[in-house]
Amino acid sequence: MKTSIVWFKTDLRLHDNETIVKAIAQSEKVIFVYCFDDSHYKTTKYGFKKTGSFRTQFLLESLQDLDASLRKLGSGLVVVKGKPEIEIPKIVQEYKAQKVFAKREVTFEEKQTEKLVLEELYKLRCELETFSTSTLYHAQDLPFSIKDIPDVFTNFRKKTEQDATIRAVFKKPTKVNSPVIVEMKLPTLQELGLKFTEIDSRAAIQFKGGETLALERLNHYFFETKCLSIYKETRNGMVGADYSSKFSAWLALGCISPRFIYSEIKKYESQFSANDSTYWLIFELLWRDFFRFMFKKHQTKFFLYSGIKSEKKNSKSLNEKLLSQWINGKTPSDFINANMLELKLTGFMSNRGRQNVASYFCNELNMDWRLGAAYFEEQLIDYDVCSNWGNWAYLAGVGNDPRGHRYFNIEKQASDYDKSKVYRDLWLK
Ligand code: FAD
Repeated sequence: MKTSIVWFKTDLRLHDNETIVKAIAQSEKVIFVYCFDDSHYKTTKYGFKKTGSFRTQFLLESLQDLDASLRKLGSGLVVVKGKPEIEIPKIVQEYKAQKVFAKREVTFEEKQTEKLVLEELYKLRCELETFSTSTLYHAQDLPFSIKDIPDVFTNFRKKTEQDATIRAVFKKPTKVNSPVIVEMKLPTLQELGLKFTEIDSRAAIQFKGGETLALERLNHYFFETKCLSIYKETRNGMVGADYSSKFSAWLALGCISPRFIYSEIKKYESQFSANDSTYWLIFELLWRDFFRFMFKKHQTKFFLYSGIKSEKKNSKSLNEKLLSQWINGKTPSDFINANMLELKLTGFMSNRGRQNVASYFCNELNMDWRLGAAYFEEQLIDYDVCSNWGNWAYLAGVGNDPRGHRYFNIEKQASDYDKSKVYRDLWLK
């Protein structure tokens, strides 16, 4: 085959990227493309932006880094903006490409876009091949068919750990044959309908996008500080960069691959010994996989008020005042307020915080959980469709929680996890 296109989406990396490896192996020339999908910058039916400025800034940085890495290989990134089903075929025609290689999607809107692109490419006699590149376990290696994947995480995890293996990582390419690619021009935040918002200096971490910094972060968390060896004890923390890995934002855009993280954990264990903590990071990556596979199984149900449960209920009505108090950290609970301010001013919140504010939203404010999830979608720098809507449904009692309706006692949580108020003082004083 002569010329191929690699269509990047949320797989912005060169290491462990099967899509790129296969494109290079099958083609004489490869062109790398990223399309800013206009629909990602619209306002959703819940009244929030689909993508807020923290995540968009992180995306711009990631693309900058990807372009620089591709230039070192002899290529560069072509950036377009519009509808992928129009823009990708245009590039195909311009370069007379015979095949497009891309990441395989699991969620509804992303699959719809994939289908529209496929239909347009078909008219041009151009093929589209997709690859699963975002999970630890490959979907084909699971010991169940998709429809039989257990809805309870523990059952999924035990059988998967016992019967499936994690594939080896793909090597980063060292050279690419590509036509000359003109200097990359990224849209500005303004062109995407957003305003630049600086991450507050109190942030747990000053996230910056891109594969280079993702790999640096891994090196810091594993080999420089050995924080990995105490992860299980620190992971419920709320202050500082190192209580947890902070891999989430890079994972969400695919700047780092979960399989690469796994292979580095194995390397770390062979050098510094394995313990509960080194295993626990793999355990958490399995949660991430689980939600992805749940979306493959239940599809759009995760966006319904009744979630994956068969019992249908009428959704709660919107209370604008309560919603605004929650978003702006003005509820009667100082613990909730501190967390919501952190999210508003940095785009990040700890897992402990997320569980509490989501439980508070569903149980104390008694509102439609999907509004909370939609606000997270706009605001989170690490937003990921499956992890976000899957966790929200779980906490709303309409997802994968075998205990049904989970209720967090916020005052108890605050005294257990922020006993001396260090976290609350950081955000409220
Ligand atoms: P670590 O504790 O270091 O964990 C390592 C990795 O494991 C994470 O980066 C993440 O990829 C994965 N992981 C950990 N916990 C979970 C979990 N509960 N579910 C799925 N994956 C997990 N995570 C996102 O990446 N994007 C989201 O949009 C998102 N929305 C959430 C919404 C709610 C209501 C809740 C309760 C959790 C949500 N999470 C989401 C999961 C989790 O809170 C974050 O992944 C984690 O806080 C990110 O910090 P970290 O990378 O330091 O995590």
